[in-house]
Amino acid sequence: MSTTYDVTVIGSGPGGYVAAIRCAQLGMKTAIIERYPTLGGTCLNVGCIPSKALLDSSEHFHQAQHQFAEHGINIKDLKLDMPQMVKRKGEVVDQTVAGVAFLMKKNKIDVLQGHGSFVDKNTINIAKEDGSSEQITTGKAIIATGSKPSSLPNIEIDKKRIITSTEALELKTLPKHMIIIGGGVIALEMASVFGRLGSKITMLEYMDSLIPTMDRSLGKELQKVMKKSFDFTANLSHKVTGAKATSRSVTVTAENKKGESVEFKGDICLMAVGRRPYTDKLGLENLSIETDRGRIPVDEHMQTSVPGIYALGDVVRGAMLAHKASEEGMFVAEVIAGQKPHINYNAIPGVVYTWPEVAGVGATEEELKANGAPYKSGKFPFRASGRARASMDTDGFVKILAHKETDELLGMH
Ligand code: FAD
Repeated sequence: MSTTYDVTVIGSGPGGYVAAIRCAQLGMKTAIIERYPTLGGTCLNVGCIPSKALLDSSEHFHQAQHQFAEHGINIKDLKLDMPQMVKRKGEVVDQTVAGVAFLMKKNKIDVLQGHGSFVDKNTINIAKEDGSSEQITTGKAIIATGSKPSSLPNIEIDKKRIITSTEALELKTLPKHMIIIGGGVIALEMASVFGRLGSKITMLEYMDSLIPTMDRSLGKELQKVMKKSFDFTANLSHKVTGAKATSRSVTVTAENKKGESVEFKGDICLMAVGRRPYTDKLGLENLSIETDRGRIPVDEHMQTSVPGIYALGDVVRGAMLAHKASEEGMFVAEVIAGQKPHINYNAIPGVVYTWPEVAGVGATEEELKANGAPYKSGKFPFRASGRARASMDTDGFVKILAHKETDELLGMH
């Protein structure tokens, strides 16, 4: 006989595990299904946490190399130990995912390992790695299956020379020349890690600015700072047309602004053109749920077209951010419990963990202009701050956008 749950969550990323904890706290008998052996999803295993660990390590190395002497600290024989850096990153990940496993136990949530798929609205099949399977019965279900890296047509990710962020976080030797396709958040964070450690970085971005979804002033400033900090070239308005790897190198071809074909040769090509919602083998066809450009459509309660089945996080509309997924996890649990939660999407910040860190919340200046909103803008350069000079952090600024008449805060970048 199959076990029956009030709620079953598929996927244990920051959306899924937070939803499961909140459901359990609200008195529901809860299960969580995860296809990988560790909990925590993209964010904890191959995303936010490992990238932040390497960002910190590489920033320490870069400061030791370029700033310590000015502070009056002289180090002899500074050396990079990549295997140790990657090992430490692995330990941070291990401790963090173990923390999630502990939270599941503490909240009496059943963790079921295997690939979940819907047989029908109330039955989920869990296919295990050893070929066996188990079926459970559930009153309600929450789909939190997240996302996977996207690629471009005609480019095959071989995971050796043409890699995604997942493989980049495991590199144990430093590439001499890394070509990065994409100029968004993940691309810039990876560029910072490897650029600071000594790789030459060539970035190819289709749009005419870096981090084009954030306030445009941020991408411009960051490009300047990164160029000054390490060997970094951003080729904007470049449409990548192909990438070919040999055993020794990789060649990326692109079309520049003038329509000319240009070629870049490096030893690693990192594909960072965004992520696609992941619903592979989820059995959505058994529920007659159709995706919209890969995403699962949900209403204002995050309910899918099937009553009692909810979806959240990277697999639905909106920004692909861990804290957005977690917020939606709390929201869905409270909706199921009959409460009336609320999410203010306008108050969810986006952060790029470069140095200086780039962050933005609320409306961008471009959005306000496009909407014809009356606004005023104030900008303060860090250069003018004594505290920033003391820590040698004089690059960057704070920009505040407020309503022209009421002073209401509309955006901050
Ligand atoms: P995920 O974290 O993707 O989790 C989904 C889980 O579902 C996975 O564990 C998957 O194995 C499992 N799953 C999928 N299908 C099934 C199935 N059928 N059965 C069982 N299990 C299944 N965001 C930030 O906010 N800040 C950051 O600093 C940040 N840095 C990032 C750095 C990198 C390199 C990357 C790649 C991403 C980063 N992100 C960051 C984005 C963040 O990781 C995602 O937004 C977040 O993980 C989404 O959470 P989620 O719960 O929706 O899905």
